[in-house]
This record gives sequence, C-alpha cells and structure tokens, in this order.
Amino acid sequence: MKAITLTPHTTQVQIKDWPEPQIQNPDEIKTQVLSVGICGTDREEVSGGRADAPLGEKELIIGHEMLSRVVEVGKQVKNFKVGDLAVISVRRECPNCPACNMARSDMCMTGNYTERGIKGRHGFQAEFVVDKEKYAIPVAPEVQKIAVLAEPMSVVQKAIEQAGIIQRARLPYLQNKPNWLEGKCTIVAGLGPIGILAALALRLRGANVVGLDIVDETSPRVKILQEIGGTYFNGKKDDPKEIAQKHPYIDVIFDGAGIAKLDFDLLGMLGINGIFVLTGVPGDQRLINVDGAALMRKLVLKNQVMVGSVNESLENFKMGIADLVAASKKWPGTVDKMITQRYPYKDFAAAFGKHTQDEIKVVIDWT
Ligand SMILES: [Zn+2]
Ligand SMILES: [Zn+2]
Repeated sequence: MKAITLTPHTTQVQIKDWPEPQIQNPDEIKTQVLSVGICGTDREEVSGGRADAPLGEKELIIGHEMLSRVVEVGKQVKNFKVGDLAVISVRRECPNCPACNMARSDMCMTGNYTERGIKGRHGFQAEFVVDKEKYAIPVAPEVQKIAVLAEPMSVVQKAIEQAGIIQRARLPYLQNKPNWLEGKCTIVAGLGPIGILAALALRLRGANVVGLDIVDETSPRVKILQEIGGTYFNGKKDDPKEIAQKHPYIDVIFDGAGIAKLDFDLLGMLGINGIFVLTGVPGDQRLINVDGAALMRKLVLKNQVMVGSVNESLENFKMGIADLVAASKKWPGTVDKMITQRYPYKDFAAAFGKHTQDEIKVVIDWT
C-alpha cells in the first residue's frame, strides 16, 4: 500500500510503498482510510519537530485525524461490520499507570504513552490501518463528509467536559443544572479548527460565544462563527475593553490559539467564579511581561480556575461525533465549510505547504 512517511526530526516526508497491515488478532478490525486531516501537530512534525518512529524503526507514518471504512473484522469483533464508518483514536496506554489502567491514557501519569502518527506508533496517512476494535469509534453515515473532524472535536469535548466537572463540583448553584453552560457568556480565543469546533460545541449547549481572532470579517472563519450565532471580535482592530463593556461577566474562556500574550490579557477579563481552559500548545514565543501579583490577586479574590487539557478519552470521541451530528442538523452545511481544502494523497506536499488566511482544515483524501 501507499503511505506518507517522515524521518522524525528531519523534513524528509515522502510517499512510500509500505507493507499492508493485516489482522493478526481476533479483536482487530482492518479499515480503509478515507481521509486524514492535517493540524499544527503534523506541520510541526514535518518541519523537523516533535515526532518519534516506533521503537527500532527509522520512519514514522504520520497522520492522526482520520476517517475510515471497515473492510475486514476479526472473529471476536462485536460492534463493527464490513462497510461501517470508523474513526480510530490516537493515544495508547503506557505499560502501567493508574490512569492508563482505567482506559484514560489522556490522563497518563508517566508520559510513556504512545500516539498513532505522533509518538512511537504509525499513523493514518496510509491506505489501510489495523487496530483493536476497542480503539475504534463508530461514525453515523450522515456525517461522513465532516467526520474527519472527529479527533479535533474530541479534544474540544474533553476540555469542555473538564471545565464542567470542575465548575459543577465547586459551584453550588450549578450542581443540579443539567446543562451548566446554558446562557453562559464565553470567549473563544483563536478561530482555527479547535476554536471553531469549540464555538460549535458551546453554542449547542446554549452558551453565548464571542470568537476572537485577527482575520478580516470576510474570512470563512468569521462566517461560520456568525452562522452559528456567535459574535466576532477582531483583535487587530477592536479594543479589548469593548468585550469587557459588552460582556461584563465572562464565565468561560476557551483558548484554542496557544498565544501566551493574548491569553494573559484575556485572563484579566474572566468573571467571578470563571474558568479558563487552555488547549493550544504554544511554540517558542517572545517573552512577555505579566503583572503576576495582579493576576494572582484576581484569581484568588474572584475564585477563578485555569486548567489545561490535552488529548481525549474514547467517550470524548463519541461525544464529539454526537455533536457533529447535532451541529449538521441545526446548521445544515455550516460545518462542511470548515474543510477548506482537500488534496489527493499524491499531492501531500501541497497540502503541507503554506497556508492562507481563508484556510481552516486541510484534508488529504485517500480514495
Ligand atoms: Zn491534530
Ligand atoms: Zn499511563
């Protein structure tokens, strides 16, 4: 089969003939890859950054945001049959830690987990994939066109879930509310794929969303935000004080950008008992000056929480796919607009090339 491989810590990426994986255990499924999304992690990998080949190998098949169709099932497979759509998750347990032992490798305590397409395990930029049934999540056929967004959407689900667990546990007036986000005022920082998906998930839960970015008002990112009922704030033009004036009480800030300067500025706007959820992973950035004492004073006097969230549980994948289904019903055609470019796998170099302001999610098609 064909596969896109990388020699980790170099910029050597190529299409290669690779041995087609075969089912070797009765609990495995084999799937044909339909499409694979590209994100900042992939771009970091192919520019020589963070990536590891499997132990003893020199190359890594990249790709971790995928959609596939089942072509073969092992004898003990219960929940999949040939023809079903499936998304295969990314992270695999470390040999032994309390979180991984509970199938929560997203909370791994040793750091010795592996990740398909990123860390020590081949990924999904290939024609076929084999994995255990337990790592696969079924996908409803009606969202086939957008289900390649399931992985980034599951990252969003975990972050919102974490915020909900914390807020419900500590705020007495939220404890009996089935939907703690209903009517809450939220800011989403950065309208890349994660930010837009966060805005979708928050809107589905009845929150008001202010989306913050520096793109022009004509950008598809802004169009999508407005279609789902969010308000755009252009960080290049508008004064941040305006947000504070219009929305004096910010309950939740969701960071999908990973820009330290922006996030510390926003932290100053968080309301009483508010929560700030970080999902963006900053690369090297210019040093910033922060009035640490003022921020700490605010955190204490306003009962605020700042929490980081990475990766996702299998349950978060299911929640993410359910949200994609709900969003495509509520705003028909809107989520589809997030996939701004599709390239056949042979043109992978163009897919990894420089991106435009209008780009949201770039996808590689394998069929
Ligand atoms: Zn990704
Ligand atoms: Zn672990």
